[in-house]
Amino acid sequence: QDKQYADIHIGIRNTLTMLGYKMRKGNINIIEDFDETLPEVKALIGELNQVWTNLIDNAIDAMEPAGKGTLTIKTRRDREFVEVFIIDDGPGIPPEIQSQVFDPFFTTKEMGKGTGMGLEVVQRIVKQHRGSIKVKSQPGHTEFSVCFLIDG
Ligand code: ADP
Ligand code: MG
Repeated sequence: QDKQYADIHIGIRNTLTMLGYKMRKGNINIIEDFDETLPEVKALIGELNQVWTNLIDNAIDAMEPAGKGTLTIKTRRDREFVEVFIIDDGPGIPPEIQSQVFDPFFTTKEMGKGTGMGLEVVQRIVKQHRGSIKVKSQPGHTEFSVCFLIDG
């Protein structure tokens, strides 16, 4: 596995296309707040796409019961890092479980709907890239922010 310079926005847009059916079914609208000057990031491209897929998939699941929602994807450069924010306006993650969401097999979804492995995989990939991930959540606003080193 070799790291290559990747355009983050292309990866995110491909992921949104892949999840398009689920997005339309959930009546989710998308706001792309992209930093158009964002540099490419040295990364494992397939792994990076797995990160966007798992985070966006969770955001859609969270908004689905409401029958509508807004997914905001924001990118920013911060010195030698790029930051990606995946934000939804779903019900939020209760404070008492926020520390558990990255644990393997932790899920609040009904049998067959969630494996509890999505965020565990995301965290593993982020670590593999020497990056970091944070979550902030309150009712109506959940934000996962992922930070990667531009030079990998
Ligand atoms: P799964 O999606 O299979 O349940 P994940 O590891 O992807 O497993 O997520 C673990 C849990 O974290 C979810 O079951 C859910 O309770 C919570 N979670 C993750 N993302 C969100 C979100 N955007 N809004 C609300 N809860 C979330
Ligand atoms: Mg998941």
